[in-house]
Amino acid sequence: MEANEQRAIGILTSGGDAPGMNAAIRAVTRAAIFAGFKVFGIMRGYKGLITDEIEEFSTQNVSNIIQRGGTILKTARCKEFQTKEGRQCAYDVLQRHGISALVVIGGDGSLTGARIFANEFQFQIIGLPGTIDNDLYGTDSTIGYDTALNTIMDCVDKIRDTATSHERLFFIEVMGRDAGFLALNGAIASGAEAAIIPEVATQEDQLDELIANGFRKSKNSSIVLVAESPSTGGAMGLAERVKKEYPNYDVRVSILGHLQRGGSPTAYDRILASRMGAAAVDALLDDQRNVMIGIKNDEIVYVPFTKAIKNDKPINRELMSTLRRLSI
Ligand code: ADP
Repeated sequence: MEANEQRAIGILTSGGDAPGMNAAIRAVTRAAIFAGFKVFGIMRGYKGLITDEIEEFSTQNVSNIIQRGGTILKTARCKEFQTKEGRQCAYDVLQRHGISALVVIGGDGSLTGARIFANEFQFQIIGLPGTIDNDLYGTDSTIGYDTALNTIMDCVDKIRDTATSHERLFFIEVMGRDAGFLALNGAIASGAEAAIIPEVATQEDQLDELIANGFRKSKNSSIVLVAESPSTGGAMGLAERVKKEYPNYDVRVSILGHLQRGGSPTAYDRILASRMGAAAVDALLDDQRNVMIGIKNDEIVYVPFTKAIKNDKPINRELMSTLRRLSI
């Protein structure tokens, strides 16, 4: 590259969408233009990279989006990117546009793809953790997690009104894939009786304990948050079991589903996304590669992809103890 040639970077969102992705796109675009880069928006994640759905972004392209849920770049799942031929095609497209670095905003799968691609083509990639699940290692929070948690809290508050009126036991299923962060912290925030999460032994153990405690008979309703993971049995499975074994309980199920992904991001997520987006550009300028931007004790950190992806992020046991003690 000539000394005075402007460097070009690409930005994409991939995998499951999360509120705050737009704030991250805005931050990366603006910080990069501020630093003198050309910025290309890549549509539909790795799919648009392969099919060349790419356009140059100005600062105006990202105006008025910080408050919007979803992602203006759209997102997709892309099987072709999991093949060598697909990734070669993506690389050729990047070469054609003169793009020499990528910022990938996504979850565990998207960053796995980014790591493979970066190693294969010696390509500079910086990752941003965009997922409501908060399941990436090396960061206290991911973009979208706080908003989803607040959405869950609002929903549980509403369900509690009807649960109390009818003296019912509710199993409420929340997202999280194989992580219980949303279920556990959602339970604490909404004053639920328990959370059944994949990180803890087996579903039977957790359910047995709840039943042994009589679902707190002193109260006139009970709410249990359940992480969607197959290892918890899901809200439906748990409810069936209780119905069979304890027919006197009035059991109901509510699966919150996709509404957990939507909505305007919270102030926390907007600020997190803005800081992480700016930090991604700092990382590019420092010639860092294969790192995900994280946040630890309110400080920006740079986490190698291999660490962010492979490691299971531990659940804080203190939170479990707090939930148990506060639900007597
Ligand atoms: P998330 O990023 O939310 O975890 P996915 O797991 O669906 O979402 O991953 C998003 C995309 O990342 C996939 O559709 C695929 O294109 C890419 N990807 C995931 N795993 C790999 C892999 N092992 N190799 C290459 N690409 C991958």
